[in-house]
Amino acid sequence: MIEDKYIHFTIGRQKHIALIAHDNKKEEMIEWVQANQEILKNHFLCGTGTTARLIAEKTNLPVTAYNSGPLGGDQQVGARIVEGRIDFVIFFWDPLEAQPHDPDVKALLRIAAVYDVPIAYNRSTADFMLTSQYMEGEYDRRVLNYDAINRERIEKYLAK
Ligand code: PGA
Repeated sequence: MIEDKYIHFTIGRQKHIALIAHDNKKEEMIEWVQANQEILKNHFLCGTGTTARLIAEKTNLPVTAYNSGPLGGDQQVGARIVEGRIDFVIFFWDPLEAQPHDPDVKALLRIAAVYDVPIAYNRSTADFMLTSQYMEGEYDRRVLNYDAINRERIEKYLAK
């Protein structure tokens, strides 16, 4: 029997937000950030290389820049989700053009689901997220307790 099936991680009042936009979506991302600047300035912002730099230039908001997406930026965002250092993602992806880093995009989607991190894939979802009641407070996300699962698996092997 697994005792603690889930572990809870709190998304604080101040969110750690990653911003990513594919090339055909960068203009839309900049518009969206400008429109929501008053809210976003209260949070910690980061993003993939080009997106982050463009937003910082166009808005004067501080945005930590990781590598450009095709050079591993999406994977860096994914790794920080695993480490608990990013807990909110806005990702304007381009559904009409194949990307060289498609597998990385899929990996980011997967890891966000594993860690129950809110992730918007388009502008309307981003608007819903930003106007959520949880923006003003905390939210406990729920992650499967793999420690407990692994313990059970190890015990099963040891019993053989
Ligand atoms: P970029 O990467 O911000 O460096 O353009 C985004 C992406 O393509 O994932």
